[in-house]
Amino acid sequence: MTSTGPMELPGYAHVYSGKVRDLYAPLDDAGSPRDDRVLLVASDRISAFDYILSTPIPDKGAVLTQLSLWWFEQLESLLPNHVVSTDVPDAVSGRAVLVERLDMVPVECVARAYLTGGGLAEYEATGTVSGLQLPPGLVDGSQFAEPLFTPSTKAPFGEHDQPMPYADVVAEVGAERAGQLRELTVRILERGHEIAASRGILIADTKVEFGVRPDGQLVLADEVLTPDSSRFWPAADWAPGKRQASYDKQFVRDWLTSAESGWDRASGEEPPALPDAVVEQTRAKYVEAYEALTGRAFG
Ligand code: ATP
Ligand code: MG
Repeated sequence: MTSTGPMELPGYAHVYSGKVRDLYAPLDDAGSPRDDRVLLVASDRISAFDYILSTPIPDKGAVLTQLSLWWFEQLESLLPNHVVSTDVPDAVSGRAVLVERLDMVPVECVARAYLTGGGLAEYEATGTVSGLQLPPGLVDGSQFAEPLFTPSTKAPFGEHDQPMPYADVVAEVGAERAGQLRELTVRILERGHEIAASRGILIADTKVEFGVRPDGQLVLADEVLTPDSSRFWPAADWAPGKRQASYDKQFVRDWLTSAESGWDRASGEEPPALPDAVVEQTRAKYVEAYEALTGRAFG
């Protein structure tokens, strides 16, 4: 089943919708929304070029939810996660998870194992990435000696996340917490990269979100190491010095920028609906990533 937006869920109150996920609070016996739990429902919405496309990708929400759950398990020895239960209403079965409602850390915690994208643009201009001085001679797709912590601000919808100097992270959350965020973010990418690379996928970079429990414990929240939060590259095709193909959204981007779509990115107009073949190829890539990483069959 395909899902594109918030729905009526008996026993739950809708509290928030992000670009991809819808959040609901379970109702307590008195019919009031609980403030300690949230049902995180991943829709099939897909974004490209900063637009949420009008065409959903069937099963995308379920694939990403199942992949995150698998990664939370793989990372359990590193830090606790927000998962409470996968026992969810039938209407959102497979693509929802009940989690602890946390006080979210207002920092997009990004780690990069390879130079590309926004990091490459900064490096070419200044020789730095997120203010960190790097050796000369790096190119698009070069692997760093070790992953860099390159945090960004959580921008409001429609605006780009902005790079956040480490000093700003310290100012926001304190030196001790900032150090924990940096250390954990880098270790999550290292661990994830090691596991994924052995299965044919490079995780070039990733964004994780942390939350804090009432007792102050830092917890891994949101989604983790999915193609939506990370750059996945097929290991077999990786070669520094070229733009690497995006694992999941390449068909979407290629089609949107082709003459066939009739869409002019510079026009400011919403992208057109995707053809069925592009939807099917994209769905297959999400499923392929899930199956390659977890070794499980999807569905
Ligand atoms: P945002 O809407 O914050 O700009 P987004 O578009 O990426 O970001 P989604 O991923 O669609 O949002 O929705 C997930 C939302 O749920 C995010 O705002 C995320 O910070 C929040 N979230 C994730 N885990 C938790 C949690 N355990 N407790 C509270 N909020 C959470
Ligand atoms: Mg998100």
